[in-house]
Amino acid sequence: MAPMRVTVIGCAGSFPGPESPASCYLFEAEGFRLVIDLGNGSLGVLQRYAELYGIDAICLSHLHADHCVDLGAYFVARQYAAHGPKPAIPVHGPRGTAERIAGFGGEDVTSVTARFAFHDLDPGTVEIGPFRVTCDHVNHPVETFGFRVEHEGWQVAYSADTGETDALVRLARDTDLLLCEASFLDGPDNSPNLHLTARQAAEHAARAGVGQLVLTHLVPWNDQDCTLAEASAIYGGPLSLARSGLVLSPG
Ligand SMILES: [Zn+2]
Repeated sequence: MAPMRVTVIGCAGSFPGPESPASCYLFEAEGFRLVIDLGNGSLGVLQRYAELYGIDAICLSHLHADHCVDLGAYFVARQYAAHGPKPAIPVHGPRGTAERIAGFGGEDVTSVTARFAFHDLDPGTVEIGPFRVTCDHVNHPVETFGFRVEHEGWQVAYSADTGETDALVRLARDTDLLLCEASFLDGPDNSPNLHLTARQAAEHAARAGVGQLVLTHLVPWNDQDCTLAEASAIYGGPLSLARSGLVLSPG
């Protein structure tokens, strides 16, 4: 059986950058395609890696625009498809997701719920296609979920947006790979309970004992060499920066 594959579609933090859309990750296994987050610009790049109507399920970590706004664009694509509207696919997100997505285009909520079957996320584990998906609340100003996605024993954790939190360490415990946000660099002006510095991301990875750390949600104005340097001083395992098009798989 082919192993799970994760493709970084978008890894720019907080808004799209010149080299990457905002947050979006494509998880594939057994012909099933799960997209986690659909930030600004991601629907375009996603089509390089998956057929427009080939997405089977979507998870949204939270309802900040840089993680969900392109679900509004995807609604348009499914609603006004060439040969009629496409059937609803599952969307797992925080409470209020349908209203948020409808609001982007001034749509009735009933229009949006005809194209997407919304499921409220709660801390715990759900099966989505071939994936076992565990989520928990992380530390961000709006309700936000981090994830652990498992298939055939390969485990990938994704921080979403978060300040420091033991929940991320629990989600990432002994996983093969942690996709962890590193929005900030060390400094006196970072707001607490919002985002991680690269050093804090590395501390969470080290505490969780992850097999590999990929830093993501990289804000375009940060110096990427500084991001790597901060993290490598703390985390001694395989460490890299996400980029759009990066494919991650076991081995
Ligand atoms: Zn956010």
